[in-house]
Amino acid sequence: MKKIDAHAHVGEFGGWANVSITPEELIKQMDDFEIEKTILCAQPNDLCLKTRDAYPERIIGLVYPNPYDGEKAVDEIYDYVQNKGFKGIKCNPLRHAYVADSEVMDPIMKAAEDLNIPVFMHSGHAPYSLPWSIGLLAERYPKVNLVMIHMGHGHGVYIDAALKMAKRYPNIYLEMSGMPMPSKIKEAYETIGHDRIMFGTDAPFHPAAVEAQKVLSSGLDEKAMEDVFYNNAAKLMKLI
Ligand SMILES: [Zn+2]
Repeated sequence: MKKIDAHAHVGEFGGWANVSITPEELIKQMDDFEIEKTILCAQPNDLCLKTRDAYPERIIGLVYPNPYDGEKAVDEIYDYVQNKGFKGIKCNPLRHAYVADSEVMDPIMKAAEDLNIPVFMHSGHAPYSLPWSIGLLAERYPKVNLVMIHMGHGHGVYIDAALKMAKRYPNIYLEMSGMPMPSKIKEAYETIGHDRIMFGTDAPFHPAAVEAQKVLSSGLDEKAMEDVFYNNAAKLMKLI
């Protein structure tokens, strides 16, 4: 079944993670798992740009700013979207140490609204990236589509909160990489709406084989799996 990977990285991640993936290895994984396109982020942004330029039909670029850079972060967003063809913004409150709904995000969200592009935000780690804070951010910016990457991640209470926030705020989308419960994929599809939950790998942090198997084990029928694997990300990114 053809797929879009709604969240992946390239590069080296040392320290506790000790994982890495090159652009070539990512494309190989995409070929092996029928992943037509990947929504990619990297730091530095230039690595994502080089990867997208090497594989323009396969890679959708997200610009990954540090909101604490202020005006420089906003300039970077406009440059990458208007001049380099990137299609969204990636934010990680855990990496840059800000609470998801803090004021430091305001210029970023205003740029996203102005450019009419989605914001992909890491979720699942207290105190910075909890689903409730992402909900408060979505509430302040109802016109910006906000993708809650990992839909709460590994903690059952956070996963439940991710579903609750998505039910409450129609501009929240859920991406499932690293979230361990296939049953929650079906529950999200059935209770928050058919078009707001998406497959992703978080390469190189999780293997595509495991992430795909979660959808296949979720109990969704074939039409629903097509939505989760492909159609929903395609619609969000205006590919169809
Ligand atoms: Zn990630």
